[in-house]
Amino acid sequence: MTEQEQTEQEKTDQYFMQLALEQGQLAYAAGEVPVGAVVVQNGEIIGRGYNQPITSLDPTAHAEVVAVRDAAKNIGNYRLTGATLYVTVEPCTMCAGCLVHSRLERLVYGATEPKAGVVESAMCLLDSPFFNHKIETCSGVLAGQASSLMSDFFKMRRAGKKKLKQLSRPVKGEGE
Ligand SMILES: [Zn+2]
Repeated sequence: MTEQEQTEQEKTDQYFMQLALEQGQLAYAAGEVPVGAVVVQNGEIIGRGYNQPITSLDPTAHAEVVAVRDAAKNIGNYRLTGATLYVTVEPCTMCAGCLVHSRLERLVYGATEPKAGVVESAMCLLDSPFFNHKIETCSGVLAGQASSLMSDFFKMRRAGKKKLKQLSRPVKGEGE
């Protein structure tokens, strides 16, 4: 890849990551851990998804799985050959497996996930020799925005819980 091609690729990656972040904001608004994803094939978005296991009563409804399902449906093919998945946070084991099964060509993510991320953090699952499909990966794209979206969410949730605790604490002198 020439230097110019590399800058073009970086610009393209940032552009689509911005759209994945918008999906993450939809998760945030729904009270779900804010992770968003988009699937791109031939320069076009073919699938979108945001994390929604609680609201859709579906433990598999992570952003990546929702986006991959949307993409496969839209193109009428269970294999997303040549496609790139952009996701705001490093994928977990389930999602990494889903990406291999969908035959994605490339995975681009923003922030690393130290506890559950399996591309580079907790393990390097995609490098496992037993997988019959290799996915090219790129990390750190708009990572700052992705991680602040996450930390804002957890801060808000902690503050909400604290407030709830205070409200449910019996007021002294009442009901005694
Ligand atoms: Zn996942």
